[in-house]
Amino acid sequence: MLKKILIANRGEIALRIIRACRELGIETVAVYSEADEQSLHVQLADAAICIGPAPASESYLRAERIIAAAEIADVDGIHPGYGFLSEDPEFAEQCEECNIKFIGPHSRSIRLMGDKARARETVRSVGVPTVPGSPGVIESSEEAVHVAQQIGYPVLIKAVAGGGGRGMRIAHNAMSFQKEFNAASNEAAKAFGNGAVYIEKYIEEPRHIEIQILADEHGNRIHLGERDCSVQRRHQKVIEEAPSPFVTPELRAAMGEAALKAAAACDYWNAGTIEFLVDKDRNFYFIEMNTRIQVEHAITEEVTGIDLIKQQLRIASGEPLRYKQSDIQISRHAIEVRICAEDPSRNFAPCPGEITLYYPPGGHGVRLDSHIYGGYVVPPFYDSMIGKVVTYAPTRELALDRMNRALSEYLIRGIRTNISFCRAIIRDPVFREGGATTKFVETFLARTPHEIFTKTNENLDQSP
Ligand code: ADP
Repeated sequence: MLKKILIANRGEIALRIIRACRELGIETVAVYSEADEQSLHVQLADAAICIGPAPASESYLRAERIIAAAEIADVDGIHPGYGFLSEDPEFAEQCEECNIKFIGPHSRSIRLMGDKARARETVRSVGVPTVPGSPGVIESSEEAVHVAQQIGYPVLIKAVAGGGGRGMRIAHNAMSFQKEFNAASNEAAKAFGNGAVYIEKYIEEPRHIEIQILADEHGNRIHLGERDCSVQRRHQKVIEEAPSPFVTPELRAAMGEAALKAAAACDYWNAGTIEFLVDKDRNFYFIEMNTRIQVEHAITEEVTGIDLIKQQLRIASGEPLRYKQSDIQISRHAIEVRICAEDPSRNFAPCPGEITLYYPPGGHGVRLDSHIYGGYVVPPFYDSMIGKVVTYAPTRELALDRMNRALSEYLIRGIRTNISFCRAIIRDPVFREGGATTKFVETFLARTPHEIFTKTNENLDQSP
């Protein structure tokens, strides 16, 4: 078993990894930027090393500084968390070259699945359905127009290096195509240093449903069912649940089998997620693979009873999987809400600052993964997510009631958050009936009185 690891991340995921390590008796080394000196992950790890100034580009994204810290601290492994360097094949490769175990898949698998056009081709070659689109990267605008015409409008132009919902443009017809094509390519070149794009049919009102997998380094692979992540704003997830209210046992089995085929096609090990879009007729299409732990992993933990971070550490230690597919039972329902320091009444503008009063929710069936506390100052330099509230229960209805209750208790003063916005979604009849597609948030925002988002979460009950 690994004895000591470095955590190349911050915030709630750094804490989550420290917790798993502590239960396994693994020593932890945190890294932090100058802006994170007061962070909980720095205080709770066994040791902590400052790796540079506040901007991520000078600290959490600096592979060479993290590797140097790992060598000084003499760790056996590095857990990259999500975001930052977690899907950077060069970072994984550097770890491999320095004989530091990268707690994730091999750099080969990251590289292959990180190119979204090659990922599509790879999984299609083993029989996994993909969204109809260009066979690979689009080489010229003539080819682009031709492909778009063949698959039919609307089409989505996507960056091969895309992520976080960026580098994606819809073209509704031939007239707007050229403009959107150029915009997507320029945006991708700026954001990812790679302007290559491919084209997919734009699926109208799909659901985003993804499959969690676990694979060891000895060729054993299982899936842990799905998460429904259809509640998204600007292609970014806001609320997730497991199991999906839309998925039948037959669909789950078929998607699980497809996910395992995709994982085998890139010789995958450790934890990973295969993302699909599912149309109203329950046809499913691969869109991408995330070769890391995801934000929303906690809901899978709560419905299966399996600690995914511990499994990652065991797999990276060379252990064979402890579970067979038949051991995996989905025994309850779980929902996750991503709490962000942002102001829904000002177009979700980030709201960093000092938390002057803090009271977290608790009670039966509530899990809170967060690094914030009273007096903590949310720095302006990083992602605005400040925590995740997860509720679980024997039924979906009860899990939703519990989430509504938990969000009503959650007090964060001094900064604005999206808590009342999320609470309003949890109480929305369309969402409650399990009817949310990826269009949901857009229509919800259009039909919901704006005042709701300026209310604090605990007095939402007094709204009409
Ligand atoms: P990213 O890596 O930026 O997160 P994804 O490929 O995972 O990009 O897509 C993010 C979201 O964008 C999906 O969950 C879905 O809502 C939307 N999306 C992606 N591809 C399509 C498509 N072909 N048709 C309709 N919506 C899509």
